[in-house]
Amino acid sequence: MPPQTGKNAHKIKRLVVVSNRLPIVLVRGEKGEWQIEPGSGGLVTALAPILRNRGGLWIGWPGTCEKVNLDKIMSVTDNDTGYTLKPVTLTEEEINKYYYGFSNEIIWPLFHDLISRCIFDPTYWDVYQEVNLKFARVIARNTRTHDYIWVHDYQLMLVAKELRAMGITRKIGFFLHIPFPQLDIFLKLPWRFQILRALLEYDLIGFQSLRDRRNFVQCLRTLIRDIRVQGKGQVSTIQLGDREIRVGNFPISIDYNGIQKQTADQQVADRAWYIHEYYPNRKIVLGVDRLDYTKGIPWRLQAFKNALLKYPELQNKITLVQIVVPSREDIPEYHNLKNEIDSLVGEINGQLTQSGWVPIHYIFRSLQKSELFAYYRTAEIALITPLKDGMNLVAKEYCASKLENDGVLILSEFAGAAPQLQKDALLVNPYDIEMVAEAIYQAFTMDEEERQFRMFRIRRSIGKYNIFWWVNSFLRAAIAKNLDNFPPLDYYIPSENYLPLEDFISVQNKLHDPSARHEL
Ligand code: UDP
Repeated sequence: MPPQTGKNAHKIKRLVVVSNRLPIVLVRGEKGEWQIEPGSGGLVTALAPILRNRGGLWIGWPGTCEKVNLDKIMSVTDNDTGYTLKPVTLTEEEINKYYYGFSNEIIWPLFHDLISRCIFDPTYWDVYQEVNLKFARVIARNTRTHDYIWVHDYQLMLVAKELRAMGITRKIGFFLHIPFPQLDIFLKLPWRFQILRALLEYDLIGFQSLRDRRNFVQCLRTLIRDIRVQGKGQVSTIQLGDREIRVGNFPISIDYNGIQKQTADQQVADRAWYIHEYYPNRKIVLGVDRLDYTKGIPWRLQAFKNALLKYPELQNKITLVQIVVPSREDIPEYHNLKNEIDSLVGEINGQLTQSGWVPIHYIFRSLQKSELFAYYRTAEIALITPLKDGMNLVAKEYCASKLENDGVLILSEFAGAAPQLQKDALLVNPYDIEMVAEAIYQAFTMDEEERQFRMFRIRRSIGKYNIFWWVNSFLRAAIAKNLDNFPPLDYYIPSENYLPLEDFISVQNKLHDPSARHEL
């Protein structure tokens, strides 16, 4: 891939990550004191190991609209993470219309091909623009000429446009973590021209897959005049007047070695053993999802039931552990989905439970990583069947945690992870509940040699194309640099011994005065 060596790219000294959310959340404790909690979700999982200890800057919303001295609270966390956090303050109305409204009731469903779930409210668009401008102002105030600004995801598609309007010429890249839809779907968006034009103000636009990138280029060709696209391979160049914009596909991944280390931890191993003791002589099928209609949970539950009815020998021998992490609960669609899942689980368990065996164990809460990794480690089968997904990091984390190569991954064709893992995962159409039931049976009966062979190859691929590969390939395309050009600082803790953010915060709390840190 030819690197982008635009003007001053070689002088870039600091990474600035911009995302809707900071990697922490501020919440009120029981006594009303402020507490800093680690953020969750794919983006934090992916980016935290990259910035950690490299002295960069992360700009985002801290998860509360309350008026507090955010800068003071944030400054306390800098030492914990090895990079600086800069909050963008948002009002409740802004969060309602920019985040819940435009981002999650328009872009999210549309980009996941679920047009009927879109609510095209024009006031959402107004506030989306205002908030993108707000982010741009914070970026402008807190960055310098030789910073590389890396903006993330669909909430912030207009940021570069706002920065350019302020006359800022710094290099700015954008990565879309969710899919980009096909032309006929994108055309439905009332603000299609504005969004495409705004995206073209970035210097590099990254997508999760070739499919997404092709969709984007097709939309450009149809909607933007005088555009020329050149080059194949991982990155191509778009010529628009005298501007050159690069587009590429960079499938995001996980900190493979870090996850292996955490999974190998004795506490995780013990926990995994206890989990399996609870399901004696049974195979565990694991589903892990945020509460979201794109994850295909109701279809999956139906498919599991289907497998149990079609292959009665699975009854008593297999248990589905379905973890659902609460998410976006303020949106009515998500409430309805929760009700649907609750009643399906009740219905299936009511119909099929026998003494000593419940078919579905349903957990509705967020798990700490150590507990989650224990489930990964112990589950024989992962059942990951999103209707459409940018990547799906859970699929990769599950495989990274199978230290003995013993596990089977059933994966939706429509997950961004599918092109990479398709040879060795059991690929399914999540809408086809008979096909998914067959895959469950195939996974259950697969012999050890085949299981090990498939999982070995999946793990080899994820180990090679890990999160550091992802960030390096993006940075090489953006500024002809990689992470080695932003070496870890050694004055917090050594980089190879880094801890996950939650452990980091608790360790720091023990080292220092907890009341000074958490009860601000
Ligand atoms: N996750 C977690 N606790 C849980 C369930 C999930 O920390 O109880 C994390 C999981 O480890 C993964 C992320 O949430 O890193 C989910 O990422 P994914 O790409 O699968 O889905 P997203 O939620 O971003 O759509």
